[in-house]
Amino acid sequence: MVSAQTASTRWLVRIIPLILGGCAGFATYVLVKRICIDFFLHTRHQSGAATAILVLYFLFLLLMLVTYFRVLVVIQHNPGVTPLGQKAIQLREADKKRKRRSQGTETDLEAGERYESCPDSNPDSPGLERFYSKDVFMCNTDGRPFWCSSCCNWKVDRAHHCSELERCVKKMDHFCPWVGGVIGETSFKFFIQFTFYTAVYCLIVIIAAAICLAQRIQSGAGTDGVVIAIIALSAFFGLFTFTMACTSMRYACMNLTNVDYVKSKRVVHQLAIRVPRGTTKGPNYGVITYPLPKPGNGPGVHAPEESARDQLATRTFAIIKTEMGENPWDLGPYRNWKSIMGDSWIDWFLPFKHSPCASFENNESFYEMGPLYQQLRERFSLPSLSSEEEKETRELKKQLHSDGTDSTPS
Ligand SMILES: [Zn+2]
Repeated sequence: MVSAQTASTRWLVRIIPLILGGCAGFATYVLVKRICIDFFLHTRHQSGAATAILVLYFLFLLLMLVTYFRVLVVIQHNPGVTPLGQKAIQLREADKKRKRRSQGTETDLEAGERYESCPDSNPDSPGLERFYSKDVFMCNTDGRPFWCSSCCNWKVDRAHHCSELERCVKKMDHFCPWVGGVIGETSFKFFIQFTFYTAVYCLIVIIAAAICLAQRIQSGAGTDGVVIAIIALSAFFGLFTFTMACTSMRYACMNLTNVDYVKSKRVVHQLAIRVPRGTTKGPNYGVITYPLPKPGNGPGVHAPEESARDQLATRTFAIIKTEMGENPWDLGPYRNWKSIMGDSWIDWFLPFKHSPCASFENNESFYEMGPLYQQLRERFSLPSLSSEEEKETRELKKQLHSDGTDSTPS
């Protein structure tokens, strides 16, 4: 089932650029030759109208093509997937080899569906530190991050497993056959620009063709089937891309993806929020301490031989839940928009710079947290970190940065 779906998607992905190219080529022929040259220039002698239409047409054709190729390049070379776990790499490698042996050269990456891996129970599980070195991250009821059983790895905040790609994609929006890949964190901005420019491009074609048609009818020249066809084609693509552009811009202003939006009204986020070391369970929250205790040591008890560095690296988190429908990453519409489209309005229109949110990750969180984060701390009366612990953390980070070794701070 998955295999068939992916095969048909692959087929679509190859054929769709040809269809789109054909449509744009046909529209260019009709608009330039039939409408501008034959009708406005030769029949009506309206060189001003012909020039205006041509300038606008080619400007938006160029913007549409540039943003389309920008999306294509990004989803091919930087789709925003998260790393696979060691087990997934081995299993997929083995599956590829097995496939090559049995079916010649055909390779496939759909093996992921056939195994299910449980969350890594190793307290030193690779990748776990990336989560607990932050002050807040999305977590499960047990306080550990979410686990992708197909990628065999911890899921970073806001990542979603894409079955077409067989990978977790950061801020996955949707799988788009029109561009042959997953729209996510790295491509969402360019996708918005592409759908917006395509909608404007279609509108220009519709307006030019409609004026031409109206003047033909007025002058008694009758209708032109090709011009009617181009209006119908542009209306179809125009309506489609206009809807996509509006929906995507709305999600951008809400700091939601298509995937988030589907469940945004009833979703309850669970977050691990850092509290002072040794904080105990509260009336309405549980706690978890990292690094996770090794087997044999009781819960939260760490081996006596651990260094001062390990103790410094020990971090306690409160496990809390948001109310239904709350979005911890909502920064307000304008800042949400800028986190995707860029800080300057020039970036909003040009497809060069990447979204600021794609490179945001810092010591505090994977994505910039909205005001809800502070409200949650107050709502659950979470104790704030002592200035001493904050200072220790800062120094530890500085030291780890400067020498990159395991040395114990004196
Ligand atoms: Zn995954």
